[in-house]
Amino acid sequence: MLKINATRLLANLESLAQIGGTPIGGVSRPAFSEADVAGRAWFKIRVEEAGLAFQIDGAGNLSAILPSTNPLAPTLLFGSHLDSVPNGGRFDGSLGVLCALEALQTIQEAKLALPCHLEAISFTDEEGAALGTFGSRAFVGDLDLQDLQLGRLTPQQLDAGLQRLGLTRTGFLSAQRPADTLAGFIEVHIEQGTRLEKAGVDIGVVTAIVGIRSFWLRFIGQAAHAGTMPMSQRADALWGAAEFIRQAREMVAASFSPGVMNCGRIQVSPGSFNIVPGEARLALEFRHSTVARLDEMEAALLDLAAKTAGALGLQCEAEPLARSSPAQMDGRMMQVVEKTAGQLGLSHIRLPSLAGHDARSLSRITPTALIFTPSVAGISHNPRELTHDEDVINGANVLLHAILALAAGQA
Ligand SMILES: [Zn+2]
Repeated sequence: MLKINATRLLANLESLAQIGGTPIGGVSRPAFSEADVAGRAWFKIRVEEAGLAFQIDGAGNLSAILPSTNPLAPTLLFGSHLDSVPNGGRFDGSLGVLCALEALQTIQEAKLALPCHLEAISFTDEEGAALGTFGSRAFVGDLDLQDLQLGRLTPQQLDAGLQRLGLTRTGFLSAQRPADTLAGFIEVHIEQGTRLEKAGVDIGVVTAIVGIRSFWLRFIGQAAHAGTMPMSQRADALWGAAEFIRQAREMVAASFSPGVMNCGRIQVSPGSFNIVPGEARLALEFRHSTVARLDEMEAALLDLAAKTAGALGLQCEAEPLARSSPAQMDGRMMQVVEKTAGQLGLSHIRLPSLAGHDARSLSRITPTALIFTPSVAGISHNPRELTHDEDVINGANVLLHAILALAAGQA
């Protein structure tokens, strides 16, 4: 069975990790930074050294291309992202791009006749230095000029960042790829969780990428003197918020697994040592893999908020913020990945992804698969992020053979 060049793949991972590398072995390579510019230049050199065609689109997505002899053939796409969060790890995103490049080089060296074009791609700004999954959203046509204003950078910062990458503010519009030119997309990514490690399994086959909903919850009581108001008569808004968090945690773990919830921010007012809190605003976010479960979770959490508030003599208001739908991965592609893993003697399980990925964008327009490799202790977005060499190699070989099987299916 054809295998990827493990030595070359591991050397590439090590070499790329030096760009934006941090003292304890992590990577700080946010999109549009100098380190990102250097990482992108590194990738271009690798692609050209390999004798593959290099391409950059209007959103700054970088590709290595191995063409089919049939110019009218569709393109099978695979990849991830080269950018990282600030002070992140060396595997998130980079693993998928380098596995893609390695698979492409292996196929090129094997001189196989290809019934479709093969393209290894790195999408711009997956992590959201400016706008999360910027490159893949532009690629599928899910981004307009107004969306750019919703990003995290000021217009001046954005223009400077785009310029650093050789891009313009409107250029991303040209990055949209017609769906009928694509044969599918495959992303290899670290799990960033502990499920594979706990199960002792080599490969995760993702069923869906979770949908995310967020709310501001306002618990409203009555501000009062922290000394003179008797404890029994207080309408302390923070007591409501605290009680909600405690009960919500138990409820979600007991009734909504593998769904998750988080309260990531709390604002208390007036906000003083000597005043009983009159209002507590809580940033609530929750995730699940189907709309039906998200609906149930939303109803249960909002009901719980109202009940905990009521029990303490408080009011509760819920203001909906963002909502994203779950993205289903393609059933046939999941089967191909499972069969491939089996042929390589690797164990595998199906699981939902609790984090967003470029695969979410691509699944809007083309059959998409997301392959997880185990993360040691689930640590990610952290310099201590680690995936063992063996798992890196397994991920790349599964990708290689999934590409070959899917390409053969296009013949
Ligand atoms: Zn990632």
